[in-house]
Amino acid sequence: MYRNILKIITVFFVMLALIVPVTLEKLPAINEKYDMAKALEDNVLQNYVKASTDAKQEKNPDEILQKGAGFEDDLRIELPDDSEGERQSISVETDALTQTVYVKLKADVDNYFTKYSMTGRSNHIDSMQYYRKGADGVIAITTDKLYQVKQRIENGYLYLSFVNLHDIYDKVIIIDAGHGGRMTGAVRNGIEEKSINLDIVLALKEQLDSYSGDKRLGIFYTRTTDTNPTLQQRAALANKADADLFISVHCNSYEKGNFTAVSGTQVLYSQSDNRELGSKHLAQICMDNVTAATGNRAFGLLPADDIYIIRTSEAPVALVEVGFMTNRQELDNLANADYQKQAAQGIYNAIMQAFDEGY
Ligand SMILES: [Zn+2]
Repeated sequence: MYRNILKIITVFFVMLALIVPVTLEKLPAINEKYDMAKALEDNVLQNYVKASTDAKQEKNPDEILQKGAGFEDDLRIELPDDSEGERQSISVETDALTQTVYVKLKADVDNYFTKYSMTGRSNHIDSMQYYRKGADGVIAITTDKLYQVKQRIENGYLYLSFVNLHDIYDKVIIIDAGHGGRMTGAVRNGIEEKSINLDIVLALKEQLDSYSGDKRLGIFYTRTTDTNPTLQQRAALANKADADLFISVHCNSYEKGNFTAVSGTQVLYSQSDNRELGSKHLAQICMDNVTAATGNRAFGLLPADDIYIIRTSEAPVALVEVGFMTNRQELDNLANADYQKQAAQGIYNAIMQAFDEGY
């Protein structure tokens, strides 16, 4: 009887000894463009308990305090040695727009996943790839949501924690400067809408950067330079950040784009958002504050679910058309840095009022 049990146990361990190397053999296939999520699930998840135990043993109490309660290491990434045998300098950057964390290894490694180990939890990871960029090796990790990434290096390993934004910030705001890059938006007298939108957003950023209130604000921009994120990326940023507010900045044009007397600020909202503190009320708050700050007249609110970023935003969304580029006076204003600052101040005040009202 006992012999049989022993036999079964022996067979079990022999099989395990065979299965584990076979499973690990699959890892070298993890390569450029390979979707790691499933592989992590299959091959690496089992290592998590060990990895997290190791990690806990390596931490000293001070570091645990510094990390803050509730932040767990999600990934442990083995760092390559350089030729002198020292751990390579690395950089970790997050591209909020694509929810991708880039770990740059200053190391001459062609295929990271065949040579080094990565352990951890896969539940936040949508995909992973390794590629060479010049002299660097880059591990690109795309996550299911936008996280704040915490990092530390210890004993030759890089530890990454993906922290929910709302664990760090009281409020998360997404600011979108319309158009960009090849997509100029409206053009009048050689003035491009994309540039006015960006200038207003950069003025707003300056004000938000010097916010000194009691809320911890997490503010993310779809662009701060002349780039052109897709509409999907813009809306996804708001949704994947679980944003409390999503504000898009544009300038208007009337009908065929000829100069007319039509002027004023217009704010677009989602009519399918019927929350009390939803898109429409946010649009009204934006209207009140932008017109107060600029002295511009209110052209009105407009239901605009036909616009992609408005229709798909889970956050209360307002698209502020600051003024008409097809009105000569307003075009002059919109191109003027002082007026842009006033418009930015109006949007800033709107954000503060929205939070006061409970958004
Ligand atoms: Zn526009």
